[in-house]
Amino acid sequence: MADNDYEVVVLGGGAAGIAAARRLHDAGRRCLLVEARGRLGGRAFTETHAGYALDLGCGWFHSADRNPWVAIAERQRRSFDKTPPPWAQRPSLPYGFPIERQREFIDALNAFFARQAAAAKEPDRPASELLEPSNRWNGLIGAINSYISGGDLDQLSVHDLENYDATNVNWRVVEGYGATIAAHGANLPAELGCIAHRVDHRDKRLKIETSKGAFVTDQAIVALPTAHIADETLKFTPALPGKIEAAAGLPLGLADKLFVSLDDADEFPSDSRVFGRNDRAETGAYHVRPFGRPLIEVYLGGSNAWHLEEGGERAFFDFARSELLGIFGNRFAKRIRPLAIHLWGRDQFARGSYSYARPGKAGERARLAAPVDNRLFFAGEACSTHDYSTAHGAYATGVIAADEVLAARKPRP
Ligand SMILES: Cc1cc2nc3c(=O)[nH]c(=O)nc-3n(C[C@H](O)[C@H](O)[C@H](O)COP(=O)(O)OP(=O)(O)OC[C@H]3O[C@@H](n4cnc5c(N)ncnc54)[C@H](O)[C@@H]3O)c2cc1C
Repeated sequence: MADNDYEVVVLGGGAAGIAAARRLHDAGRRCLLVEARGRLGGRAFTETHAGYALDLGCGWFHSADRNPWVAIAERQRRSFDKTPPPWAQRPSLPYGFPIERQREFIDALNAFFARQAAAAKEPDRPASELLEPSNRWNGLIGAINSYISGGDLDQLSVHDLENYDATNVNWRVVEGYGATIAAHGANLPAELGCIAHRVDHRDKRLKIETSKGAFVTDQAIVALPTAHIADETLKFTPALPGKIEAAAGLPLGLADKLFVSLDDADEFPSDSRVFGRNDRAETGAYHVRPFGRPLIEVYLGGSNAWHLEEGGERAFFDFARSELLGIFGNRFAKRIRPLAIHLWGRDQFARGSYSYARPGKAGERARLAAPVDNRLFFAGEACSTHDYSTAHGAYATGVIAADEVLAARKPRP
């Protein structure tokens, strides 16, 4: 068999593609993982700075009590930290946001979520319509949703938000979620630095055109971020307008993390949090001393993050610095320095952080995931109806696609 000839080619070596390729490889299929970057993991990406493994993409094993990456991390002997996240079960630090005001905000946020649950039984609409006019907490409700979804409330489908399912058990590993996911792909047959341009499905066998030449295969799994399908960076011949439409209904929102070093960090409790502001959507969430480290992890989302990306990495630090000085005073400037950031919107192989559904488009997740002719299969976080935007959702879609490949009758040569 020629070395460009496979039973299955998996496009995209992120959480979904790795899960799919691992399953197929272990089932004895001759399979190849095609990945544009020089590394596996995609939006799962751990980088070491100042001696700490920092997750610039996914960090939390959400729904950890049913998350398949947990067992994989255990097999890899990772060190789990089960401290609840700073957004759950305890108030933020009271700087600039007294506990009594925080309670008012939590009540307003819970009331918003209750309206969302009720509105999910009605025709779909933008989540912004669920805000109470002139409620003083609307800005911060918008900020929270921009961290969760990467989008602004007027862009988000109420049905899709309500479809999201989580058990609220959230864990981390000290060595990094990104490192864990990439390690699960180690030793799989993979072509790195290989950009897929076209899937030609006119003939009995599929032809995958890439920057490193063409591969021939019986079946393929496409596990790329939606932006690449929506704007036809990856083309299908013949075209698949249903897939383009589905992907366009599920654009990638933006959330970026900035890590800042913090001197004299012991002044603050580990894994605590402050908000930059509590009166507007354009604000950051500041996770102080993650894992007890002398750092602040700044989370910025939605149109605020897109806007900051226009100014580059420096714009994020300037923004965070100005919010932190607003809370802690000008002398705080001496204690912080930028450490690491990854701009996911500018990243040409991601072009955003995680998918959201536009109003009326919640059903596009299932449409995107549906196989074509029993030989073209689709995976990736955006294909998950209930666990979208997560690494475990991506994993599940990869395994489903691999099982579909295994169940499909192999096309006759
Ligand atoms: C800042 C941030 C924080 C996050 N936090 C969390 C969290 O705490 N918990 C959580 O569960 N999730 C989180 N996520 C989301 C999670 O990282 C993603 O949902 C998940 O990693 C997506 O996996 P995927 O396989 O669907 O896509 P990707 O990881 O994007 O994989 C797709 C792959 O395709 C490759 N590719 C693109 N174009 C081509 C091409 N033409 N040819 C070949 N290859 C190509 C890409 O390089 C990439 O490796 C976060 C994401 C970000 C950015």
